[in-house]
Amino acid sequence: MVDNYRHKGMRKRLVNEIRSKGVKDQRILDAVNKIPRHLFLDSSFLEFAYEDKPFPIGSGQTISQPYTVAFQTELLEVKKGQKILEIGTGSGYQACVLAELGAKVFSIERQKKLYEKTKVFLPKIGYRQIKLFYGDGYKGVPAFAPYDGILITAAAPEIPEKLVSQLKTGGVIVLPLGGGDVQTMLRLTKKEDGTLQEEQFGAFRFVPLLKNKSSD
Ligand code: SAH
Repeated sequence: MVDNYRHKGMRKRLVNEIRSKGVKDQRILDAVNKIPRHLFLDSSFLEFAYEDKPFPIGSGQTISQPYTVAFQTELLEVKKGQKILEIGTGSGYQACVLAELGAKVFSIERQKKLYEKTKVFLPKIGYRQIKLFYGDGYKGVPAFAPYDGILITAAAPEIPEKLVSQLKTGGVIVLPLGGGDVQTMLRLTKKEDGTLQEEQFGAFRFVPLLKNKSSD
């Protein structure tokens, strides 16, 4: 698995592009600069690995656009040592960004093949501390709750109630909400009385959050 000066140069350009689109948190830009995104794609797709675009990763799923990964991560306001639950592991790229910020990362994927592929791949590139689960993200991962933050990386038609119950008071859920073609990015903060305070951050497009796990 090669990561050479050419890849590093491509990453620098990607970081500049994400910065120019408005991402300010230097820790996130450093993570994008460090993580070898080309290794998350098939080797024949090197030319696409450092474009600021989503890309197919098999099983009908995509690795999110780098800008979107950075933007959602910025909204989470991760602090070192916090417990973060990601819904929709996919390629594992987003989970690595969270790990680079010093979070304790838990991530769940409903597609068995993707889960198995990513579970083997992440330790190979040095991310051994990320805990991966195969299951339905609507149900969350109650065994390790409560979380400081929950990041949903697929389009949710509604706010999953079980995830709200696995969130600490003061914690945030970042999610693209909407069942149609376009979603609204939301940040929900859980208040003392258990209700959610909502902030909106514009329109995005995600693959759908699907119910139940899939065995293929
Ligand atoms: N975070 C990923 C990209 C996510 S694409 C990355 O960095 O590459 C969205 C992912 O959510 C897909 O892999 C899809 O299979 C998964 N997904 C969809 N519905 C889900 C559910 N209910 N539970 C867990 N994962 C789900």
